[in-house]
Order: sequence, then structure tokens, then C-alpha cells
Amino acid sequence: MAILEIKKYPDEVLKKKAETISEINGDLQKLIDNMIETMYNANGIGLAAPQVGVLKRLIVVDTSPREQNQSLIVLINPEITDSDGEILSEEGCLSLPGFTTRLKRKERVIVKGLDRNGKEIEIEATGLLARALQHEIDHLDGILLIDKISPLKRELFRKKFKTKK
Ligand code: ZN
Repeated sequence: MAILEIKKYPDEVLKKKAETISEINGDLQKLIDNMIETMYNANGIGLAAPQVGVLKRLIVVDTSPREQNQSLIVLINPEITDSDGEILSEEGCLSLPGFTTRLKRKERVIVKGLDRNGKEIEIEATGLLARALQHEIDHLDGILLIDKISPLKRELFRKKFKTKK
């Protein structure tokens, strides 16, 4: 396994739409293992393939306390099939270091996809897991947190980001 480089804003790859995965092969398994290791290494609760520069519809999520690693989810071609409620909460992103914002998300989602063996799975999630799944699936469509905030806040973010560098 290897730790991959996490692409940071404003890397162009983060704005692109990822492709549906049609074949689950050894290369994909390797990518999955590397993404899991990269997510844990960065203390993240989720990672999408475009964040490591791969435009494929693949996410890994683990919202359990770090020492447990009990609720690892690997999802290939994930899709939100149902959702309800709304909840406002603080959110950050490994591709936007140092930035957090309060953002409205669906409170409950049902997500369908394939596990790493190609078996169809359906996950019903609430709370932090629901938020993480929505966040990572957004990445597959080239959508970042900063695309979801008001234009004024986005401008402030861009300025802050520039002066930091
Ligand atoms: Zn993110």
C-alpha cells in the first residue's frame, strides 16, 4: 500500500466529472487500498478518487473513531437514490486545507452502489455518515464545498487562499 498525494484546490482535476467504473480489477483494488491508507493517514473521514487525481466514481468513507476503523465503507459508482430532511453543520475537506464552513445537507440519505467485490449494496445513513457520503459523491461530479457557499463567501475564501500561499 502507498500514501497518495491529495490534490488541493485549485487543482483542475477537482472540477472534473468522474467516470463510471465498468471493470473491477486488480488495479482498482490497489487504488482502493491506497485511498483507504491515504484517508487514514490524513485523518479524514472520507476520500473520493478525484482527490487523488483519478477520475473514477469511487469513494471511501469511515466516520468511526480513528482507533476503531470498524465502519469502513468502499463504494463504487455510488448514487443517492433517496433523501429527506435538512441539517446545517460544519464541514471541511482534505482538498481545502484550513477551510471549514457551515453547510446545509440532507439529514438522511439512501446510497446505492457496489462494494469492492462488485456486490450491490444499499446504505441508509444519517448524521455524520450521511454528510460524508453527500460530500464525497459531490467530488465525483466535480463539486467542492466552496461551490456550495454564497458568492460573497467564495470570494473571501479565494482571497484568503491566495494570501496564504
Ligand atoms: Zn472533500
